[in-house]
Amino acid sequence: MKPTDFALARRKMVQEQLIARGIKNEKVLKAMRKVPRHLFLEEGFWPQAYGDFPLPISEGQTISQPYIVALMTEALELKGDEKILEIGTGSGYQAAVLSELVERIFSIERISSLATKARRILDELGYANVVIKVSDGTYGWEEEAPFDGIIVTAGGPEVPHVLLQQLKVGGRLVIPVGDEYSQILLRVVKKKKGYKEEDLGGCRFVKLIGDHGWKVEG
Ligand code: SAM
Repeated sequence: MKPTDFALARRKMVQEQLIARGIKNEKVLKAMRKVPRHLFLEEGFWPQAYGDFPLPISEGQTISQPYIVALMTEALELKGDEKILEIGTGSGYQAAVLSELVERIFSIERISSLATKARRILDELGYANVVIKVSDGTYGWEEEAPFDGIIVTAGGPEVPHVLLQQLKVGGRLVIPVGDEYSQILLRVVKKKKGYKEEDLGGCRFVKLIGDHGWKVEG
């Protein structure tokens, strides 16, 4: 496939998978028309890169379905000057989409080989406002808190309370919560007193593994 074919595939993806399902935020749509999703995958997957499904990266992990990336990004209600925490860097694709939309992204990945690959491609593409570290993201990133938004791209048994503590008042946390087979995508908005919780629909993610997630396997 030529670069123009990929650009065309991205436009089609945005039209048929995102706009058709109700994603309205123009900035999100523009970012997803721009970020070359295929480059975050092994070359063998490039022909499928803009399909309506998640795809394997390595280490048993996945790059999320484009619609889910768009839905979670839209749910953060970004204006452009935010500082965002992402848990689950994976391929780095979601971080690249966020990089188009906000000032700074702090992204945590527990598997170092994935973090290394993500760093390489983000550098190659010039996404310099993404900082990645390898650790258990269920503890958040204390030194950089508070955040305007937190996006968790792996499914946990509950909302890690530490992440709520690292959210600004008015900030949004988007996270899949449920069992290991299916989850509900939740948006939690931090209020002066308490939290407002919204159900954004069903989804299926790989496990959020950590001290405030699922226990380490094996
Ligand atoms: N956002 C990614 C992307 O754009 O490719 C997709 C993320 S993938 C669905 C989930 C990722 O979360 C995996 O790479 C997995 O290793 C990571 N993960 C799971 N538990 C984690 C934790 N406690 N801290 C950091 N990363 C974690």
